[in-house]
Amino acid sequence: MKITGIETKVCYARMRNWIFVKVLTDQPGLYGWGEATLEWHTRSVVGAIEDIAPLLIGEDPTRIEYLWQIMYRQHFWHGNGIVRGTAISGIDIALWDILGKIHGVPCHKLWGGPVRDFIRLYAHLGGGKMEDFYDTDCSDSKRFGELAAQAVQDGFTAFKSMAVPETGPLEGLKPLRYAEACVRAMREAVGDSIDIMVDCHARPSPRMGMMFAKVLEPYGLYWFEEPCWPETVDDIANIQRAVMTPIATGERLVSQYSVREYVEKRACSVLQCDITHAGGFTEMRRIAAMAESVRMAMAPHNPQGPVSTAASLEFGFATPSYIICESVHSDVPWRQDVVTEGFVVEKQGRLVRPSDRPGLGIEINEKEVAKHPFEQELPQRSYYEDGAAGDW
Ligand SMILES: [Mg+2]
Repeated sequence: MKITGIETKVCYARMRNWIFVKVLTDQPGLYGWGEATLEWHTRSVVGAIEDIAPLLIGEDPTRIEYLWQIMYRQHFWHGNGIVRGTAISGIDIALWDILGKIHGVPCHKLWGGPVRDFIRLYAHLGGGKMEDFYDTDCSDSKRFGELAAQAVQDGFTAFKSMAVPETGPLEGLKPLRYAEACVRAMREAVGDSIDIMVDCHARPSPRMGMMFAKVLEPYGLYWFEEPCWPETVDDIANIQRAVMTPIATGERLVSQYSVREYVEKRACSVLQCDITHAGGFTEMRRIAAMAESVRMAMAPHNPQGPVSTAASLEFGFATPSYIICESVHSDVPWRQDVVTEGFVVEKQGRLVRPSDRPGLGIEINEKEVAKHPFEQELPQRSYYEDGAAGDW
């Protein structure tokens, strides 16, 4: 059996261009789907996949670890940067999809079978609609409360918000009070039985991140995410040690080598490495093993397209430390038109049970994908009050 081609199908979805990766084989009807979505890097990732393809064409698609080593190590430049890492991830996911199809079992059965009966999904406020999730102003705490109540009405028992405003390197009480008011409004709207997460997008400086974490501590967040830049492990570790709130981070880390220090230093409680960036299933299983060694939870970053979600679920059914699956459902109204999913989401509680369909259990509708060709993503820029550039 041989790999005969690697294709990319780009699908414009407003904030992102979903990059679906299709690995073709010489067996009639046998191919695999992966995803390598990286917003604002679409052309780079598509180009990187084109650059990797000659290494794989003619190879046996079932030798996944061998092919992963080739993709990561050959061409001299290791696959630990975000563009190459994302390209490798998309191909790796598709190879596992093929292997599942060959054996007629879902991916999680290739890794030892299901370790749990169901996976809980969590929502972004507004279902991931850009205007609700990213553009709700932190001075409008009432709106945060309304959107939180809506998420619970939609059946979710957990949701994430961007309830921390953009802040300069050091600011006074105002942003802290805004964040506190937003989180209080959400907690009051949904009560104590619902899990609330707050994502800082690594906007705060280490000290501002610490102050936000302290101020929000009484509200019992399920986790507090990226309180400062991931480049500085010790700063995140300091916050993790200073508060009871679990700290989450890792969505920008590529390969086990960048994760190792986080694990060694117990810098967070929740690792959010992204299956579509960190090196695909092959590398994520190594990362999960490292996390397991210190009982660190895993909740892979997944605001991307439907192949990424199917991948996260398959990974979650086979990974003991996996706690919850990130999901968006309102980023574009036609999201479900591009995919046929093997899994069913129970409306109450938003629970997913394992599917029996082989591989990832999905099919991509290429005709629907073709209706949404590449466009530049909608700009999301960030500036401080004085005009200096900030983090999105
Ligand atoms: Mg995040």
